[in-house]
Amino acid sequence: MTIQEQYSHLEKTIRSYNPSADFDHIRSAFEYADKCHEGQKRKSGEPYIIHPLAVAQIVAEELKLDSESIEAALLHDVIEDTPAEHADVARLFSPTIADLVEGVSKLTRIQYATKEDEQMENLRKMLIAMSKDIRVILIKISDRLHNMRTMEYQSPEKQKQKSLETMEIYAPISHRLGMQRMKWELEDLSLKYLDPVGYQEIVSRLEAKKTEYDMFMQKTRAQVETRLDELGISHLVYGRVKHPYSIYRKMFNQNKNLDEIFDLFAFRVIVDNVGDCYNVLGVVHDIFTPILGRFKDYIGTPKPNGYQSLHTTVMGTDGIPFEVQIRTRDMHEVSEYGVAAHWKYKQNGQGAGAEGKYEWVRRLLENQEGADAEEFIHSLKIDMFADEVFVFTPNGDVQNLPAGATPIDFAYAIHSAVGNRMVGAKVNGRIVTFDHVLKNGDIVEILTSKGAKGPSRDWMKIAKSNEARSKIRQWFKKERRDENIVNGRAAFEAELKHCGLSMKDLLGPDRLPGLLKKVTYTTLDDMYAAIGYGGFTAQKAVSRMQGELQRIAKQQAEKQALEALENAPKAEEQPRSSAPKQVKSEQGIIVEGLDNCLVKFSKCCTPVPGDEIVGFITRGYGVSVHRSDCPNAAPERRADPALSGRWIKVSWGSDTNESYPTTLEVVAKDRMNLLLDVSAALSTTKTFVSGIHCRSTDDGFAIARIEIRVRDGEQMHSIINKLNQISGVLQVTRPSG
Ligand code: MN
Repeated sequence: MTIQEQYSHLEKTIRSYNPSADFDHIRSAFEYADKCHEGQKRKSGEPYIIHPLAVAQIVAEELKLDSESIEAALLHDVIEDTPAEHADVARLFSPTIADLVEGVSKLTRIQYATKEDEQMENLRKMLIAMSKDIRVILIKISDRLHNMRTMEYQSPEKQKQKSLETMEIYAPISHRLGMQRMKWELEDLSLKYLDPVGYQEIVSRLEAKKTEYDMFMQKTRAQVETRLDELGISHLVYGRVKHPYSIYRKMFNQNKNLDEIFDLFAFRVIVDNVGDCYNVLGVVHDIFTPILGRFKDYIGTPKPNGYQSLHTTVMGTDGIPFEVQIRTRDMHEVSEYGVAAHWKYKQNGQGAGAEGKYEWVRRLLENQEGADAEEFIHSLKIDMFADEVFVFTPNGDVQNLPAGATPIDFAYAIHSAVGNRMVGAKVNGRIVTFDHVLKNGDIVEILTSKGAKGPSRDWMKIAKSNEARSKIRQWFKKERRDENIVNGRAAFEAELKHCGLSMKDLLGPDRLPGLLKKVTYTTLDDMYAAIGYGGFTAQKAVSRMQGELQRIAKQQAEKQALEALENAPKAEEQPRSSAPKQVKSEQGIIVEGLDNCLVKFSKCCTPVPGDEIVGFITRGYGVSVHRSDCPNAAPERRADPALSGRWIKVSWGSDTNESYPTTLEVVAKDRMNLLLDVSAALSTTKTFVSGIHCRSTDDGFAIARIEIRVRDGEQMHSIINKLNQISGVLQVTRPSG
């Protein structure tokens, strides 16, 4: 066929379903594209215009789309591959057509990397979201279909890569949009390149048995048609052998050979109304024996993509099973052309209600399982995924964010450590401000620094995602812990007083743990902090503790024992003299005014020589040494009258131990050999390691807790420095509290 003949064929196809199409415009689109692509050749050696013409043919033949879509299909490569620009197309044709062409070009520019399933799902959504106008994706799928049909001219690598993309992205989108025929063809063409041997095996088997299969189908079809004619049910019956990829998948999934595949044959009966669907079902079940458990009523319960039909599998003559699908003409139209069928209705002036018909598209794209009531109202917006934006990380992962999201949202979606250390952001290689609104397909890179000051309060207003806001809040919550504890404590004590209780009633090692258990906090400070922050209330705390207190009050004897215990440590105050004298140290610790007392290092903050420290006289375990900055030794705890006399000055002696155990926590981007580099750093610093616990987070980070023994703070800081130099390490901290 010459190019002119092909064009005439296209016009004829359009005329068959849309006689009032704008043929003048369509012709000038064809002529303009032909001129733009002049001199360009396809890999096959043919003139390039063959391709846009074929895509327009698919758009017309398979999807029966409107004039604008046909023109856009003819022009779909001019912006991408020729000097023509959006403005030219807008001026010569229409702004809408220019947008459609630009939209298709944008999708063409997306780079895919083979990824796990979840990433594929996001990529599909991104494609749909970027399409904005559903016609963009319909043209893009038609473009891909023609490219797949002519894939034989490409290099083997390109064949594999495009086939994989088609199988993972375009076939599933076609399925979701309800376009079964295009989906089948895309799958079969992909399979041809992805598993040539498997594909060929099925195709040649089907070919070899063609006569046999044809005879079976003819006979079966005649049996059904005769009975329907007798009953006066008007009908159309089609029989077909399932398409190669669907057979392939069944053979693969069920580990069966071609003869064992259940539904090799499928029949379709198209009738006028829903009532007849069930009548035909009765007829089919009467002629053939139905196979149990294979009947499905998708008329009563449509599939998420809007598909409606009755399905049953029956045993044919000669023991060959086959599937029968029964549906009305309308249902059939939707199943063949999917969303395009709706588009067609709209174009024919039946626009009213078209939006309603789009609801399911959006819903199923968003969630295959269906949606709740709130989602349903949401879905009345025609713009697909209007409330989401899809962007790339520098290594090609897709991040799904709420519409209007900024680099702040992106950074916190990656990891809170990335957000907290963010000092700048790049979008598509350019530095942007923190309030820059991200667009679909943007490549976003976050610049971090170990010296970052952390989030500012403004970020909370800029961020669009709850995740980012809550992580920023979390940061402030942690940073302001001291303040929260003071406020929480005041509120709690006021509430206690109100209920006629005092702190004294609560304290004591035999009471406090039980009481804290009632409020599910480990320490009083944790509870204070929660009250101060607003995550818990003083009223709730006191009322939950009250019951427990009443129980305790009854146990008088125990109470007396507790009092005795509480008085015991007071004895230690006596040896304290006004002029502190240097005494022998214990484990390198000098306890002011106390000789030979038992010293232990707190596990919460693991102090090492050089740290500022403070002691706490425990009940029965001697003096526990904390770092001064340990939350368990916070100023308000030290000022607590109930603990007065138990905080004691301690200092490092000159005869410290050879080493002290301490813990470091490393947060890093997870990668190969990370742990290897960490161990190398530890071994070059000659660090004694007593344990490493490493875990990976779902979002690609690794958190390592390293238990080491160090001589003093100096050695520890040099270790921290060394760890900080490892590529990918975001922060190294000493955990406390
Ligand atoms: Mn193309």
